[in-house]
Amino acid sequence: MKKDIRKLTPEALNAWALEAGVPAYRARQIYAWLWQKGALEFAEMTDLPLALRQQLADAFEIKPIQISAQQISRDGTIKTAFRQHDGNQVEGVMIPSGGRNTACVSSQVGCSLNCKFCATGYLDRQRNLEAAEIVDQVRMLDQLAREHTGKGLSNIVYMGMGEPLLNYQEVMRSVELLTSPQGLGMSPQRITISTAGIAKMIKRLADDNTGVQLALSLHAANDAARTALMPINESNGLDLLAEAMSYFYDKTGNRPTLEYTVMEGVNDTVKEMEELAAFARRFPSKINLIEYNPISMADFRPSSHSGLQDFAQGLERKRLIVNVRRSRGKDIDAACGQLANKLDK
Ligand code: SF4
Repeated sequence: MKKDIRKLTPEALNAWALEAGVPAYRARQIYAWLWQKGALEFAEMTDLPLALRQQLADAFEIKPIQISAQQISRDGTIKTAFRQHDGNQVEGVMIPSGGRNTACVSSQVGCSLNCKFCATGYLDRQRNLEAAEIVDQVRMLDQLAREHTGKGLSNIVYMGMGEPLLNYQEVMRSVELLTSPQGLGMSPQRITISTAGIAKMIKRLADDNTGVQLALSLHAANDAARTALMPINESNGLDLLAEAMSYFYDKTGNRPTLEYTVMEGVNDTVKEMEELAAFARRFPSKINLIEYNPISMADFRPSSHSGLQDFAQGLERKRLIVNVRRSRGKDIDAACGQLANKLDK
């Protein structure tokens, strides 16, 4: 059976070359074709001798993802369905906003965490994505950004389908491929890993000190309310999360973001704003308030425009750093929490 060449580290590719009698510099060329130039067929590797291209095709395969459907929002947001080699499907989104192009990528097919406000949470987790399948999403969204806006991606957020910290190894390998000079050479500062809150993995991310940014999907800052919205909070409560976030800041110097989707009658009262402020003070942080995007599976509603403004101003009066993120791509279900593989159904 042929091996997936994109699962090989540079060292493993070197070892194969040595055994196959291929000079080491050729292994470096092959690696650059795979990860710098994004070759998806050995035939594209035109500066390799024909015999070597054949040797590679005999020993290995490349299993890229493919765009299976695409929708463009009135605001320019592009939602894309990506089909994997085994027929599974995930979604990724390219969001042009304020001169920046952000790619929101998926890390798992479905998700096991069942957050009540999130469409993906209503799909069972099928499998983890491989690093190459994450990098493919970035590459394809970058291409779309160039075609539609004339420039490439400026930021990447792991905020699509799945919990990235529950697919840690492949997510970290994808970060390495996106940031290393042998890969795409992107700055880790422009990459954000967003988690529903797995305390011990947040600490591991801190220890690995990759330079990436961290966002915590908080959405409620008292344990009972948060557990009702996000069952993972039962085993990873707010005290554990605050400790892990402090640890992350101390180790990396990067101020984490708290994502808080404001939902009418759920988490938008003055008392809940004060709970959020108290949690945000437990470590250096910044707060993103997100306008809620309705999904058909649940009954939540967004707070009114003035309700959201009042909530934000309350936090600002407490001298916290607050951004209000208006929804993007809502008309095509591409906004936060709306990804549910509906594109080609
Ligand atoms: S919010 Fe994230 S972790 Fe929660 S169900 Fe959705 S994809 Fe999974």
